[in-house]
Amino acid sequence: MQYISTNGKAKEVRFSEAALQGLAPDGGLYLPQSWPQLSQSFLNDLKDYSLPEIGYEVSRLFIDELSDDSLREITKDALNFDAPLVPIGDNIHILELFHGPTLAFKDFGARFMSRVFSALRERRDQDLIILAATSGDTGSAVAQGFLGVEGIKVCLLYPSGKVSHIQEQQLTTAGQNVTALEVDGTFDDCQRMVKEAFSDCSLNDKLMLSSANSINIARLIPQTFYYLYGLAQLNTDLSPIFSVPSGNFGNLTAGLMAQRIGMPAAGFIAATNVNDVVPEYLETGSFEPRASEPTIANAMDVGNPSNFDRILHLFDQDREKIMQHIWGASFSDAATRESLKEVYQSRNYLMDPHTAIGYQAVKKYQSEVKGYLGDKPGTPFVILATAHPAKFGDVIEPVIGEKVPMPERLRACLNKTKQSISMPNAYGDLKDWLLEHY
Ligand SMILES: *Cc1c(COP(=O)(O)O)cnc(C)c1O
Repeated sequence: MQYISTNGKAKEVRFSEAALQGLAPDGGLYLPQSWPQLSQSFLNDLKDYSLPEIGYEVSRLFIDELSDDSLREITKDALNFDAPLVPIGDNIHILELFHGPTLAFKDFGARFMSRVFSALRERRDQDLIILAATSGDTGSAVAQGFLGVEGIKVCLLYPSGKVSHIQEQQLTTAGQNVTALEVDGTFDDCQRMVKEAFSDCSLNDKLMLSSANSINIARLIPQTFYYLYGLAQLNTDLSPIFSVPSGNFGNLTAGLMAQRIGMPAAGFIAATNVNDVVPEYLETGSFEPRASEPTIANAMDVGNPSNFDRILHLFDQDREKIMQHIWGASFSDAATRESLKEVYQSRNYLMDPHTAIGYQAVKKYQSEVKGYLGDKPGTPFVILATAHPAKFGDVIEPVIGEKVPMPERLRACLNKTKQSISMPNAYGDLKDWLLEHY
């Protein structure tokens, strides 16, 4: 199995190289060169498979450099939490992807990628050092995802005083193989320092550095698992429509990948906040990346979605083809608050703001364009719930006028003692620290 770059100017590579490099040398993103197929018997019996079992069957299609035993162990260990499908009426189901350690779907990618990296490293004799700059959420998923994974050290740079209290607690209390460097500067400073480290040959001669970047193909593969697991729980003959709250479009791209390997799906809804370059492209045909605008669904505040190139590539740069599979809609903060409240009051289900955008998009689809994606009466809609509402209590509480209960594992990290290493915003200091500690 080979992986190719969306820019088409880099040589094809095996999975391990695509995963450890992240970005292709020509600046493109990696995708499989061809699409292996799930067997018909697997699809027929899908409802009998657990999430780790689905993960195993899918990952062996994409990864041919790890043994079956190794992939079984990785998927079992990474997917140690559930992703239940909750019906809320009108053929609408919520696929809850927030039962992992950081209460967001990014746990799937981080936990799987960390274990895959660890297994790939076993053939080398050096520890792998994951170096990442974070402005909050990605960092906590990486910290928790790589926590305690053998042969891997994690070093996270975050801007002092510029991440939320919950995020800082999640970043700085992990311990073990995870170190948080608290940089006296901005997120851009952190990112610049990390970039300098990756391009410094004298450092890379001594240490084996890798990134945990969100564009990594090793993060998309595990995100295909839960689409199939959602389908398994639906247990219907009608192909569903998946509504995906989107920012960088990694999540939606994973759905397209699942479809390519044989998962039945009528189509996908690209649900965004006012950062709507993709819905706009679908409607007008012009793609105009721009600076992002802050919203209450801030994990989707992306003005230039990195996975858009993958989507274009999957459909041969043909908008007509894309439109047969994806319908887009975008919503303001006011509309998001409104639907969050409506669902809570009428269906007794509390959504976080990102998921609420996925819900609104389904309602809009059902009332305005029913049938557009080839759906039939009774076609089920599956909304991907990307985060637990407790992570966004400050947005939700004023809207519903009630406190949002905090799950135990979030509370636990709030009580731990912060451990970080202060650092000036200069690359030299980072380099010295890395060489001294690893
Ligand atoms: C990252 C994130 C998203 C956006 O996912 P993409 O794969 O970037 O489209 C949506 N919701 C939440 C809660 C997230 O953390």
